[in-house]
Amino acid sequence: MRPAVFIERDGILILDRLEGVQPMPPLFLEQMEPRTEALEPLRQLKAAGFLLIATTNQPGLSHGSLSRRELDRMHSVLRQMFCPDDIFICPHDADDCCPCRKPKPGLLIEAAFKWHVNMERSFVLSNKWQDAEAAHNAGCTSVLISSPWIGKGHRDIVLAKLEDVPGRIARLHQPASRRVGDLASR
Ligand SMILES: [Zn+2]
Repeated sequence: MRPAVFIERDGILILDRLEGVQPMPPLFLEQMEPRTEALEPLRQLKAAGFLLIATTNQPGLSHGSLSRRELDRMHSVLRQMFCPDDIFICPHDADDCCPCRKPKPGLLIEAAFKWHVNMERSFVLSNKWQDAEAAHNAGCTSVLISSPWIGKGHRDIVLAKLEDVPGRIARLHQPASRRVGDLASR
């Protein structure tokens, strides 16, 4: 069983594209702006032994506003840049009442099953409240990057910058045996 960092695609791997005040996922490759400041933090997390699993709600697939071909083009670029181990997509709309649309934990649970993830030692990284709630429901620790969309619900950690993520996760991720040793030595 391995630990994972589940990464919200929009806002972490790519910049949020605003339509009014709400972030809207890109519908075409040309609209997608990768967030290059995520490269080094994700490289460090991968080197520390975490699976990197991107997750994303893409209701445009069921509305018809987003084509599968265009999504595949975008994800092909993201795979080359960020080298995630996998990308999990919820294609449904809120009205579909599916189990995978975040804040529901279905995508995390599906990924955990496929990759044999130890959820207790895993993290969700996002800049939106829906992912913190999914993390809470799935039994992982949520790490939110400050944004207008982090809400006021349950979350474990809020950080100002992506570059602070690997250090914070490394501190939280010490092996259980070492934590017991720390307690015993006090
Ligand atoms: Zn779904």
